Amino acid sequence: MSRAASDMPIAVIDSQWRDRIAAPDADGLSRAAELLRSGSVVAFPTETVYGLGADAFDEKAVGEIYRLKNRPSWNPLIVHVADLAAARALAEEWPATAEELAARFWPGPLTLVVRRARHLPGIGASNDTVAVRVPAHPVALDLLRVSGLPLAAPSANRSEGISPTTAEHVVRSLPEVPMVLDGGPSSWGIESTVLDLTGDVPRLLRPGALALRVLRDAAGPITLPESETLDGVARPSPGMSRRHYAPRAKAILCKDVAEVDRSGLTGPVGTLTFEGSAGTEVLSADPREYAADLYAALHRLDDAGFATVLIQEPPQTEDWLAVRDRLSRATA
Ligand code: AMP
Ligand code: MG
Repeated sequence: MSRAASDMPIAVIDSQWRDRIAAPDADGLSRAAELLRSGSVVAFPTETVYGLGADAFDEKAVGEIYRLKNRPSWNPLIVHVADLAAARALAEEWPATAEELAARFWPGPLTLVVRRARHLPGIGASNDTVAVRVPAHPVALDLLRVSGLPLAAPSANRSEGISPTTAEHVVRSLPEVPMVLDGGPSSWGIESTVLDLTGDVPRLLRPGALALRVLRDAAGPITLPESETLDGVARPSPGMSRRHYAPRAKAILCKDVAEVDRSGLTGPVGTLTFEGSAGTEVLSADPREYAADLYAALHRLDDAGFATVLIQEPPQTEDWLAVRDRLSRATA
C-alpha cells in the first residue's frame, strides 16, 4: 500500500490526498479532536517528527495505529500529554529525576519511561511502564488541549520506513490516514531521546533530538545501550541492528563515498554526503542541522528514483550518536 503510494508522482499524491491535510485552525483542531474522541486516529506535527495519534486509553483506537502503520505489536508507544501534571497522572511513581528533567526540558524532545499507574489500562505494548513526553510544537499542544486526551503517538509512517517531517510525507506513507494537521516541517526532524527512569541510573533507550551531553548535565551519569561504548561509539555488529528508518533504495554506509567501487552496484546510484563534498544530497556538517534534514533528504532520494544510495559515515563522536543510530538502522 505505502509502496504503491510512494511510487506515484507527487502531483497525483497531491490531488488525491490534499483533502486529508487540514490547516491547524479552530475548525481543523475541533474536527481532529472529534475524530480522536470517536476512537479514530489523527496525524499531527510535533517538533521531532509527525505523529499518528490516538486516545491512549482507547484500546481499539490504539489498535488502529498498529494496523495503519503495520507496526509490530511488541513495539511500545509514547504517550503525549499537554503538561507535567498530565504526565504525573500516568505514573505510579514520579522520580525526582523525572521532575528535574521535565522542569528543564519539557515541552521538548525528551521522552521519559516511568512505572505506569496501576489503575490505568496498558498502552499498546507497554506493560508496567509508560513512556511519556510533553511535545513543544504549538499544534501538538493545541490538539492535546482541545481534545483533552493523552495521545499515544508513534511516528506517522509505515513501520520500518522513513519518519515523516512534513504533512505530505505522512499522506504518502499512510494513504489511509483520515486526517493530518499541517504544522509545517518539523524543526528537529529526528525522534525524541528516550530515557528509562525505572532503575537506579537513568538508561538511554533511544538516542534522539536532545543531546546526551545536555542530558548528562542535568541527570548525571546515564547508562548507554550495550552496543555503545562510553565515548558514544556505535558499533552494533552487522545484521544485529534492526532495520528501521529505511528508504526504498538500498542504502549503504561508506567510510568514503568518493572511493566506493560502483561497478557492482544497482543503478541509478545517489549519494548523501556532507557540505564540502559533491553529491546528490549534501547535508550540513553540524549534527543538529544534519538531523533536521536527514529524513527529508532520504525522502527526496527515494522520490528521485535512486536504486542505491551511498551514505557518507558521520564522525564517531557522541554529538552524532542519534544520527549514527538512524543511519545504521536505515542501512541494516
Ligand atoms: P516511536 O516509533 O518514535 O513512537 O518510538 C517509540 C519508542 O519509544 C519505542 O521504540 C521505544 O524505544 C520507546 N518506548 C516507548 N514506550 C516504552 C516503554 N514503555 N518502555 C520502553 N521504551 C518505550
Ligand atoms: Mg517510528
